[in-house]
Amino acid sequence: MNTFADPNLVPPSTEPSERRRILIVDDEPRLRESLALLLAADDREIRQAGTGAAAIAELSRNDFDLALLDLRLPDMSGLDIMDWLHRNKVTPAVIVVSADDHIESAIAALRKGAAEYVRKPYEPEAICRTVENHLVKRSLERRHALLMARLEQSERLHRFLVEQSPDIIYTLDNAGRFMFVNSRIEHLLGYEKGELVGKHYSTIVHEEDRERARYAFNERRSGYRATSNAEIRLKCKNDGFRHFDNRFIVAMLSSVGIYEEDDGNPMQRFMGTYGVARDITERKKAEETISFQAFHDLLTHLPNRNLFRDHLELAMARARRQGSLVGVMFVDLDRFKLVNDTYGHAEGDALLKGFAQRMRNCLRESDTLARQGGDEFTVVLPDLAYPEDAAVIAEKFFHSLRDPFVIAGQDFRATASVGIAVYPRDGEDADSLIKHADIAMYQVKAKGRNGYQFFTAAMSEHYQSRLSMENDLRRALEHREFELHFQPQVSISGGGTVGMEALIRWRHPEHGLIDPGSFINLAEEAGLIRDISDWVLGAACAQLARWRAGPAPELRVSVNLSPKDFERADLMDRVLRHKHEHGIPEGALEVEITENLLLQDAEGIIEKVRRLRQEGVRVSIDDFGTRYSSLNYLRRFPISSLKIDQSFVRALGEPDGTEAIIRAIVSIAEGFGLHLVAEGVENYGQLTALTDMGCDEVQGYLFSRPLPVAEADAWLVQGKAPVPVQS
Ligand code: C2E
Ligand code: MG
Ligand code: MG
Repeated sequence: MNTFADPNLVPPSTEPSERRRILIVDDEPRLRESLALLLAADDREIRQAGTGAAAIAELSRNDFDLALLDLRLPDMSGLDIMDWLHRNKVTPAVIVVSADDHIESAIAALRKGAAEYVRKPYEPEAICRTVENHLVKRSLERRHALLMARLEQSERLHRFLVEQSPDIIYTLDNAGRFMFVNSRIEHLLGYEKGELVGKHYSTIVHEEDRERARYAFNERRSGYRATSNAEIRLKCKNDGFRHFDNRFIVAMLSSVGIYEEDDGNPMQRFMGTYGVARDITERKKAEETISFQAFHDLLTHLPNRNLFRDHLELAMARARRQGSLVGVMFVDLDRFKLVNDTYGHAEGDALLKGFAQRMRNCLRESDTLARQGGDEFTVVLPDLAYPEDAAVIAEKFFHSLRDPFVIAGQDFRATASVGIAVYPRDGEDADSLIKHADIAMYQVKAKGRNGYQFFTAAMSEHYQSRLSMENDLRRALEHREFELHFQPQVSISGGGTVGMEALIRWRHPEHGLIDPGSFINLAEEAGLIRDISDWVLGAACAQLARWRAGPAPELRVSVNLSPKDFERADLMDRVLRHKHEHGIPEGALEVEITENLLLQDAEGIIEKVRRLRQEGVRVSIDDFGTRYSSLNYLRRFPISSLKIDQSFVRALGEPDGTEAIIRAIVSIAEGFGLHLVAEGVENYGQLTALTDMGCDEVQGYLFSRPLPVAEADAWLVQGKAPVPVQS
């Protein structure tokens, strides 16, 4: 509602007119004229009337400050005019100017409200003074009336503001009882406006907040004129009103004491309290959400690493005082990435939540389970008597993982790797405890996951050597300590070298030549693989271009890529840039990828493989047959060739059905129209068996080990015999 729509509230816009209006009523024109002349002034408007009727007409038309009234008029008496004035509530000041010198007439006129009785003939100066006096008095009266009207309006305005306020406004008496509450209380708490009057304020205060409310509601505690502020929960009315039942609002209360003042002396009697309660429920909720977010993980609602650290430090401080132990667990959900990539994030999230719930169920109320990020969780186990107590909890936890989770409608058996560090034995501060639990967890992972380990000093050494190797690797990249060796791939039927596989070597300044098996994993974990792959691609393409321009115009070179490479957005750009830079034609460059990459089944990976193929890059599956039995992916991915893993080749001739597997692989390759290469061929037996089964391209020590560039050069230039002489 708009207040100012109420016309009564429109404030007067003008001051009382400074121009005074005077009416002279006399039947004698000469007398009227001379009086008008006498009283004339700039700020006065003087009007005249010769009869009672004319006078009444003037008085009803205009607002006069003053009327000079003759008593004897042709049509009526001046007293009649005064009666008319009275009846019509017209109130100019009346000065009777009369030749009638009977005292009765004067009394009658004064009784009817005349302000003055002046006898004719009058002293000009005297009448001027009288008129002036009355005009001044009149002006003061008008101002007063106006002021009063304004005061009344402002009081209405205040009443209005109080009622329309978005806040609850109240006054309490000195015993804490409501004397007044505005109607806001109806909307916010569900009480009728008058319902609380006479009730003690505690009626509406949440039980737990009563003590604080005593201060907030200002029970004489805040000194004279001090305001007190507090956040108090106010109860909504509980009377079956569904909307308000059992609810609270959080109110910011500001109140001030009311004191009876005596001539400005402040030390006076306490009368009660005046206060305002603002509903800050929404703000509080928002604040709580924000602070929850700052200290919790939003997916699992578990504490995050910040809160975890707080709890760990508290537990350590208590353990110091009590001489007890604190366990720190680092828990990693095994193979989580596979679930996430295979079934999507929604299923991955569900698994994380379920996993967190199972862990929580194995812990005590006083333990803290936190999510560090990704699939990593940490636990604080305060007040342990023995380190082994932590193992008991880990066992309990593994036990709880026996039941499968349901992921995408299928049973999924999750396992975890858990590292444990114990305060104070394994570290005196939070950082080293977390780090050591993490190192122990990694140890579990390295040993094949699904288990727990306590941290030991030996692990730390291992970790340190890993760390220094990581630094070495970084340096190796900078100082170009890598080189490529090339292993020939030969075609039995075609009788020559058709391809070369590029295999990286690290020429370490102290340790000599290091095989990729010792550093590729680490490079992947340390995030260095992308730079390494970039280098390999560049060097392999450059070498390929040289060979194709020289001894081997038809040669193909294959390069091993890591699954990590396929996580890069710029992988395609990199591969194609090297290809174009060195003018490599279609079908001459091949990348080898492993089966688990394709099992991830993510759209992005299919897309990348497709792009490679479209750009004329061959894609081959390395170590084929070792990982998974599902061959579904072969239908979705546009693969060029398969490489039979060397473990099968090695097992040839053993009575374990390996032959059947190789035969199956050969027919798969035929079925899908894929090129086939067997790797790890070391002897004639294997070679004959493979060629008998229809496998034509082979790679292995029987022909050549991976060769440094100069030797590979020589190999190609000499056009070595594809099948070495049997020794
Ligand atoms: P891979 O791609 O399966 O390479 C074949 C491995 O078998 C090579 O080991 C090779 O030297 C070895 N080999 C070849 N013929 C025989 C044989 O007749 N008998 C035996 N016992 N072994 C043979 P290498 O060079 O140590 O490479 C090991 C693995 O490291 C490679 O397996 C590949 O997965 C990875 N790798 C090598 N170079 C790179 C690279 O540039 N980038 C990436 N991401 N990985 C690489
Ligand atoms: Mg390979
Ligand atoms: Mg291989």
